[in-house]
Amino acid sequence: MSISLPDPIDLGYRTWSVEYDKGVQDDEYGELVPLRGMILIMPGMDATTVVVTVLHELLHAMFHNSSTPLTTKQEETAVTQLAHGLTELISRNPEFMEWVDTQLREDTE
Ligand SMILES: [Zn+2]
Repeated sequence: MSISLPDPIDLGYRTWSVEYDKGVQDDEYGELVPLRGMILIMPGMDATTVVVTVLHELLHAMFHNSSTPLTTKQEETAVTQLAHGLTELISRNPEFMEWVDTQLREDTE
C-alpha cells in the first residue's frame, strides 16, 4: 500500500499536483511534468523515500525555467544531495521547522 501524498504545492509559476504513476521508471522514483503541472511518484516506496522524491522533484521545479549553468547531470547531483539534506533537516529538527513556519507567518500577517 502506498502512503498518502501531499495536497497540491504552490511553487514558482504554478501549482504542482502530486500523484502516483506506475509509468515512472525504476531508476528515477519520481518525475516532474512541467507542461501538466504534475509530480509523478513511483508507487510502493516507503514514506521517507516518497518525501525525498517529492522534495527532489520540487527542487527540479525550482531549476526549471531558470538560467542555471548546471548540466543535466550536475543538476541531478545537486538536486539529489539537497533533497536528502532537506529531508534530514526537516525530520531531525521539528522545533526548527516550527520556528521557520512561525517567523514566516509573522511577516505575512
Ligand atoms: Zn532528478
